[in-house]
Amino acid sequence: MKIVRLLPGAGIRSSIGTMGAAAVTLIQDDINVLVDTGHFGSRDKLMARLSGNGLTTRDIDAVVLTHLNWDHCLNVDLFHDSKIIISPAELEKGSLSGSMDGLTPKFKDLLKGMDLLLVSDNQRISANASIIYTPGHTPGHISVVVGVDRVVIAGDAVPNLRAYRRGMPDLIFFDAATAKSSIERIKSLKPSYIIPGHDSPFNDNGYVERDDIDIILRKENEENLVVIIRNTEADKPLVLGSEPGTPK
Ligand SMILES: [Zn+2]
Repeated sequence: MKIVRLLPGAGIRSSIGTMGAAAVTLIQDDINVLVDTGHFGSRDKLMARLSGNGLTTRDIDAVVLTHLNWDHCLNVDLFHDSKIIISPAELEKGSLSGSMDGLTPKFKDLLKGMDLLLVSDNQRISANASIIYTPGHTPGHISVVVGVDRVVIAGDAVPNLRAYRRGMPDLIFFDAATAKSSIERIKSLKPSYIIPGHDSPFNDNGYVERDDIDIILRKENEENLVVIIRNTEADKPLVLGSEPGTPK
């Protein structure tokens, strides 16, 4: 059994909106389980990372959607041959944007045409992975617990280390008290580490791995300005350097 982090999650916000970089994680167990799919902006990278692991979308037996916010689920249409695992509450009450937007009903129609598994709390989904209900951020948010080491793939129940320490996600689209209980539930499992929705993996002692993320901003003269963001502790600068003219 192996856990492969296909796409790192990061909390990248700007004055012109969020990039919505949600973690996409592959569990290679008796079956291949993908946890979250990212969004259209990460579609090409997702395909490339699958292919880099010798897989195509057809090799993914099951896709867990932790919740229906757009940054976690928009690429689900790539997985027509997979079982799509979601909680009944999220299918009923979840939404793409966190509030009742116009696209959500159409998206749910698409989901209902797929091979859905409406999962129960504590349900085993592969030899070594189970679902736990972690609502609060959204009505039916779920997380995945993997292996005897209890690695928790937490989606936005725990979006980052800061939220874990505070005991509350950054954003609540459903209910704060419920979200708090969900983090307590995850903590009570004493996980060896957590793969959060928008940060590098960590445990009670801090980060266990750091992801470097290159942000490429194109300037008017067509030179690329590359800003490398590292997930450092908050008291250190986030922008470590730029390499003008370096194509990526
Ligand atoms: Zn998210």
